[in-house]
Amino acid sequence: MVRIDGTFKEMNVRSELAQTKPYEPLAKVLETDQTFFDYTDIKGTVVGLYCPVYMDRLNAVGWHFHFVSDDRKYGGHMLNLKFDSTEAKWDYTDGFSMVLPENEMFNDFDLTVDQSDDIKRVETGDGE
Ligand SMILES: [Zn+2]
Repeated sequence: MVRIDGTFKEMNVRSELAQTKPYEPLAKVLETDQTFFDYTDIKGTVVGLYCPVYMDRLNAVGWHFHFVSDDRKYGGHMLNLKFDSTEAKWDYTDGFSMVLPENEMFNDFDLTVDQSDDIKRVETGDGE
């Protein structure tokens, strides 16, 4: 994990409109409900998670960054940023616990479907 607090000269993020049941896969949601936000000189925090290749069925492999402004009014899935200098705090995590939902929707969800192509599209912000 990495945390970067600072003022960012440029910050480009995306987010999706709030969804209602029945929920669609994120890749499909992004086709219609994706919104991009461009911020300049914004103060906030970037949090990044690195997911190793051997966890590719659980999450997107590689780095994944989110941003939230200090006033908590702006943020999203980070696509690009620029800054002059700042400080990064690193944490190597050697374990985690995962709590699974206990509901019908999760129980009925087909986790055997390979979503790797959708995840790649989602991670790059390309909803096409
Ligand atoms: Zn994200």
